Amino acid sequence: MNCAYCTAPAVQEQSRRTSLGYRVFRCSACQRTFNERTGSPFNFLEFPTDLVLLVVIWRLRYKLSLRDLAEMFLVRGLPFTHEAVREWEARFAPLIADRLRAKRRGKAGPSWYLDETYLKVKGRWCYLYRSHRSRRQLGRRAAQRETRPESGQALLEAGAGDGRPAAGAGDH
Ligand SMILES: [Zn+2]
Repeated sequence: MNCAYCTAPAVQEQSRRTSLGYRVFRCSACQRTFNERTGSPFNFLEFPTDLVLLVVIWRLRYKLSLRDLAEMFLVRGLPFTHEAVREWEARFAPLIADRLRAKRRGKAGPSWYLDETYLKVKGRWCYLYRSHRSRRQLGRRAAQRETRPESGQALLEAGAGDGRPAAGAGDH
């Protein structure tokens, strides 16, 4: 490990740990002390990094409200507020997405996302489908004046324009 401040390799691990159990090091070049999370986006979090990432991943993966997650962890003795969940999601969901994108680069075929929502147009309930290549590239591609969910399947099969997708991911 190199120093988190001056990047010198001359670091010694200390016997003490942080209150969350992270290893502490001292740099003999700049004399500063740092821990495993210093310089990372997770520095100064009140909870362990893996726990915070688990909360964010469950929030993205399952249909859990901010309050659901706070309550689920509270019963296991881990008290944090729904506002904390909101903040963690805002901070770390983009990091998780970037990591996943980097990991699958060159491996996966073309993929795209599909948003679905239900709205009223001229007094009639419609499904609105929106497809995009990535989350950064939000663009409305299709609106179907249908009240049947099968119309979304038609859009999936059409591959949103250029070729049948190798993978489609629902975005709710
Ligand atoms: Zn240093």
